[in-house]
Amino acid sequence: MSTTLPSLLGRLTWLLAPGRCVLCGLASHRQRDLCDVCEADLPPLIDACPRCALPMAPGMAGPCGSCTLKPPRHLSLQAAASYEDPADLLVQALKFRGLRAAGRVMAEVMYERLPTGALPLDACLLPVPLHPWRQWRRGFNQSSLIAEHLARLGGWRIVTGALRRHRSTRPQSGLSRAARRRNLAGAFRARPGAVPAQIIIVDDVVTTGTTLDVVTGTLLAAGAAGVHAWAFARTPPR
Ligand SMILES: [Zn+2]
Ligand SMILES: [Zn+2]
Repeated sequence: MSTTLPSLLGRLTWLLAPGRCVLCGLASHRQRDLCDVCEADLPPLIDACPRCALPMAPGMAGPCGSCTLKPPRHLSLQAAASYEDPADLLVQALKFRGLRAAGRVMAEVMYERLPTGALPLDACLLPVPLHPWRQWRRGFNQSSLIAEHLARLGGWRIVTGALRRHRSTRPQSGLSRAARRRNLAGAFRARPGAVPAQIIIVDDVVTTGTTLDVVTGTLLAAGAAGVHAWAFARTPPR
């Protein structure tokens, strides 16, 4: 087994500051701030449709009936976990408690669970932007944080400045699908010359898929040829 400088540095960091689980608070006994018991509790998506990441009938090859009838504008959506306990706690720890280690852990789980090798090699990561005002209030953009860790793990390039959220929108939770779409209409603007051909949108959670669809439409209109998406979690159907 070869010892590379990053792996040596990783082990050294671990010796100096041992991993502590962001979920249970106990020592993780490994080079990750998530213990293996809590990681095994993160509910994986089983028999998920490769286009919308919602569950299909066991053993069915995708896409699901709804994506066959009306294919989404994005080419694929992969998520590492179902947005249920304790995956939701990890997301909330990052977004509402500002626990940045949770973002790193989410990226590490995504890197291990998602079929990252299946996408074009020249694809660039594009985190879903927050409105500058909301980002200023939170202090960071959770999707950018996850994308930065993913880029470090897999060597992808991150695109910044290609898409911005120029209109602040109401929180999407509690809104119907039609209201979500109205709420987001025209909220994003792309800079045509800055949009790469192959894009992987990165987000923490995909709930109804409205944001993903609006962002995909904006990027395709600005010249993107193919848009895929990775999320840490996917909200299961009610
Ligand atoms: Zn734990
Ligand atoms: Zn589907």
